[in-house]
Amino acid sequence: MTSIDWAKVRSDFPILAQQVNGRPLLYLDNAASSQKPRAVIDALVKYYEHDNANVHRGLHELSSRATDAFEGARTKVARYLGAESAEEIIFTRGTTEGINLVANTWGVANVKAGDVILLTEMEHHSNLVPWQLLAEKVGARLRFIPVADDGSLALDRLGELLTPEVKLFAFVQVSNSLGTINPAAELCRAARAVGAVTLVDGAQSAGHMPVNVRELGCDFYAFSGHKICAPTGIGALWGRRELLEKMPPWHGGGEMIVSVTYERATYKQPPHKFEAGTPNIAGAVGLGAAIDYLEAIGRQNIFDHGAELTERAVKHLGEIPGIRVLGPMHRGALAAFHAEWAHPHDLTTFANEHGLALRGGHHCTQPLMRKLKLPGTTRASFYFYNTADEVDRMAAILRDARKFFDR
Ligand code: PMP
Repeated sequence: MTSIDWAKVRSDFPILAQQVNGRPLLYLDNAASSQKPRAVIDALVKYYEHDNANVHRGLHELSSRATDAFEGARTKVARYLGAESAEEIIFTRGTTEGINLVANTWGVANVKAGDVILLTEMEHHSNLVPWQLLAEKVGARLRFIPVADDGSLALDRLGELLTPEVKLFAFVQVSNSLGTINPAAELCRAARAVGAVTLVDGAQSAGHMPVNVRELGCDFYAFSGHKICAPTGIGALWGRRELLEKMPPWHGGGEMIVSVTYERATYKQPPHKFEAGTPNIAGAVGLGAAIDYLEAIGRQNIFDHGAELTERAVKHLGEIPGIRVLGPMHRGALAAFHAEWAHPHDLTTFANEHGLALRGGHHCTQPLMRKLKLPGTTRASFYFYNTADEVDRMAAILRDARKFFDR
């Protein structure tokens, strides 16, 4: 039992108090993007009403306030991830950009023809396509850890796949398609034993469970702000300092240089070396406010609440004839399912008519859907402002959907 007043927490989210199609909004598309609490919205308004200016360059009051707010947010992200220092935090647009940054800097400098990039069969396109592009560019090979029948990783294949030819092992901590929670620390340990660098896709974990990159033992960790109560267009990449220092820059431009001639440039130290151009200052401020907000609730409390809702949802779904829930029992805060009586798009359209926001489709994991021989799935994904009553309402709507479609 936690002492959190979840109803009060929910009231921090103004967007949730609305009707959609004549019913109270039932927002269960949190794995795609989370809603924003008043504290984050207020931080954005305050920033634009009081402090807005460009960072780092101006010697005037507003510029120094904006710089303090921006760099202060970096310190909060560092603390949130258990990083050694704020210099290991690079602001990005989100998980996708963080992974592309690693592929185009560390990857281009270190992955050679014949090397292997190890991934898993459950990766989001954003942790697959950047590695395909890199492999094509340098002549490397991709290898995949299979997904077992229960939706977990086939860890019995790890020894045979994680060989010394593997230069990089990139994997998702919590699958957005199956909900699977991968044993990230164990995977990183195994990778280190063969000298492989690891990248963890934290898009679905950063806002849902305690995360400490030093305990995970990874080398890179990427996440998106918009999935953890922050605005869109901001995220962060954590990288181990020794690696960041040796990596070439990716984007060139202002902010990332020490000195420039017409012929060449010298670069700042990380993280600024990787942040060319005017950054998303307001986004970073919003991310800092979101982190303060989440830490006040506590990520273990958030995980436990999500686990309760998900268990309840899986139980309900299991009782509806023709529905099969994907993924293992030990899962993140989502339940994706196949309904044999309706296509995911028809089902999500029906749900929307009842105020229920679900997501139907391939969830940016097309190869996994092909492997599972499914046209897509329907996914309900939860966050800490959702309630047990909402889960019950979802189940009632899906029972009605079955009556509607299965005639
Ligand atoms: N990885 C996973 C597991 C995700 O769920 C997502 C978002 N759906 C991403 C990566 C990409 O995140 P973004 O679009 O915010 O860059």
